[in-house]
Amino acid sequence: QDLPELTHIAIVPTPGMGHLFPLIEFAKRLVVQHKFAITFIVPNDGTSSIGLQKKLLQSLPKPISSLFLPPISFDDLPTDSVIETRIELTLTRSLPALRQTLKALTESTRFVALVVDIFGPVAFDVAQEFGIPPYIFFPTTALVLSFFFYLPKLDAITSAEYGQLPEPIKLPGCVPVQGHDLFNPLHDRKSEPYKAFVHMTSRYNRASGILVNSFLDIEPGPFKALIERVHGNPPVYPVGPLIQTILSNGSDEPECLRWLDEQPKVSVIFVSFGSGGTLSQEQFTELASGLELSGQRFLWVIRTPNDKTSDGAFFTLKGNKSPFDYLPEGFLERTKDLGLVVDSWAPQVRVLAHDSTGGFLTHCGWNSTLESVVYGVPLVTWPLYAEQKMNAVLVGDEGLKVGLRVKKNEKGIVGREEISEYVKVLMEGEEGKLMRKRMNQLKESAKLALSHEGSSTKSLAEVAQIWENHKN
Ligand code: UDP
Repeated sequence: QDLPELTHIAIVPTPGMGHLFPLIEFAKRLVVQHKFAITFIVPNDGTSSIGLQKKLLQSLPKPISSLFLPPISFDDLPTDSVIETRIELTLTRSLPALRQTLKALTESTRFVALVVDIFGPVAFDVAQEFGIPPYIFFPTTALVLSFFFYLPKLDAITSAEYGQLPEPIKLPGCVPVQGHDLFNPLHDRKSEPYKAFVHMTSRYNRASGILVNSFLDIEPGPFKALIERVHGNPPVYPVGPLIQTILSNGSDEPECLRWLDEQPKVSVIFVSFGSGGTLSQEQFTELASGLELSGQRFLWVIRTPNDKTSDGAFFTLKGNKSPFDYLPEGFLERTKDLGLVVDSWAPQVRVLAHDSTGGFLTHCGWNSTLESVVYGVPLVTWPLYAEQKMNAVLVGDEGLKVGLRVKKNEKGIVGREEISEYVKVLMEGEEGKLMRKRMNQLKESAKLALSHEGSSTKSLAEVAQIWENHKN
């Protein structure tokens, strides 16, 4: 088929591999199942991650193409500005370039939808200038989406800081969420990031539709409410779980996969905090000691500790020493028969898919959580930032019961004894066994959701039909 005959969709991702990976899978599904053509229009935050994004996007086959907007500058921002501010600003500052690009593209191509991600509603006006209906690809849960619709209301009805709310927030069909577990920038209501966040969520109602990277069976309650539009929300479509497909580069296996091949089945806990999570030095040391104390096999992705006193992300890192230099003295030697430590990055999906992996100590980013669901790996949850605490609530005791959440002591640290206990319970305890069983049930329902007649396949087809009709 000629490109001009295909139905065209534009996708505008905001920075962060956690946003891009699922959007790429989404694009592939639209191409394979619905014969659409996709143009990624990529804002450039001027960081090194744009290189990785380019490499990934340019490796995709036609009819997926990508255009990169010129880099914007953050020279005027304070160095401690929060990540959410930077992400949204990347798009805000790229709007003139986006407008120009759309102007040029729409001269020859008719786009039936412009899809943005969680921080993207600021681009709605530009889409509408060109008569293109704006959609959101929501890369996290129906629980978080429900909360987004509630936030402008909550902001209006209470003046308290949310961490001080006496009662948990109970939204239709959702597990109750304590105020202190809400999205990170919401904890200081006088701050600019807070105001920007409320403003962003108040735009959500203007979307023509919202596609959510979750699925009906994992969140039946929140989806029922969203689909019935009880929040006064636009149409919502569960389309997940969309996770990175496994790419093997043949004979050249990474060391950690070869190491996993040598371990007994379901015996290794994978320890990793996503693409940007870091711990303080003190916490990093406790984690090392806790893993050692547990006596369990582990595969740990380490990153140089941050120079704050608590956990976080993207903080300025100490010097340019190797993260190995921050491990306790003699740690590698003492644990060499049980553990493997890797620097900064591991092929996570392949690790989770491996037979030897039996547990995951995770920061609970939604992609990591979905990947664990798809491969049936139960969790120790250690949320750090963004919406991760809400994800930990969803998978934890009050929700799906497939994740054991760590608790901090009065010093704000998770102690080594406790870490060792969590790891042992997950890997060997009765509770761990039950969690693994429940995770395997979720794994089956995830598979069903994406099967030919599955709920997510059907709701993607519904959106595809709307887009197709819009073309004619
Ligand atoms: N990831 C990976 N290797 C790593 C760290 C992360 O492949 O060492 C991938 C992971 O599989 C997931 C994404 O990066 O697809 C991280 O997304 P998530 O939503 O879990 O967390 P974020 O990085 O956005 O906080």
